[in-house]
Amino acid sequence: MGFNKTIVEHSLISCGRHCCLCHKFCGTKIELHHIKQRKDGGEDSFDNCLPLCFDCHADVMQYNPDHPKGKKYTESELKRHRENWYEKVKQSEGSAITDSSYLNLDKSTFERLNKLLDSKTLMYFIKQNGFIGGSFPDKIFLDIYKFLVECELPEFEFIDADLEGLKSELKQNLEKLDKLISKHTFSAGPKSQGIPHEWEIRQPERLDKAIDDFTKLTPIVSDNYETLIKLGRRKLYAN
Ligand SMILES: [Zn+2]
Repeated sequence: MGFNKTIVEHSLISCGRHCCLCHKFCGTKIELHHIKQRKDGGEDSFDNCLPLCFDCHADVMQYNPDHPKGKKYTESELKRHRENWYEKVKQSEGSAITDSSYLNLDKSTFERLNKLLDSKTLMYFIKQNGFIGGSFPDKIFLDIYKFLVECELPEFEFIDADLEGLKSELKQNLEKLDKLISKHTFSAGPKSQGIPHEWEIRQPERLDKAIDDFTKLTPIVSDNYETLIKLGRRKLYAN
């Protein structure tokens, strides 16, 4: 047993194939979680079904009551997240945002995002994968961090589900980049940091790993950003 075809379809359409917790667009990489587990009497119903990405599903399932770490999601909390997201998807149907108050809110979120992630400085640096070309101003690191902090604010959220999904994906990849910077770069003088020069001789494997990690991730971040900017311009400023 499991959710029947009608419930699966209804749930996937309601969430627009986005994860209801992190809002990322998942496509086929989506799973349907039983909010109340079947072993606890949870039903295969629409109301008990929660679409999640693989990562969030693992997070929700991982909590072990015998060794509590962090705080478990309650059933009602999961349902509220889902209802909020379903509502957003419903409001975002169609390619253009028609309600003018929503349009204005999303425009201001878009402008804020543009200000935080400047295409000519920060995003250009990321696009050029500047991390591997010697030391760089630590402002780059701070700017990424500032954006991630802003993402935690409830008002920094698009009403439009597609834009919010793309922003969430960008945020997750910038979090990964933030971790790479912490792992692979060190202070290289006042207000600058970089991959240590001496790794070239002393730890060539570590250097290769750092270059490889940055080179793989930066095009993904750039691509996320450009997709979001293009869609935002089309959806918010086309008429
Ligand atoms: Zn998720």
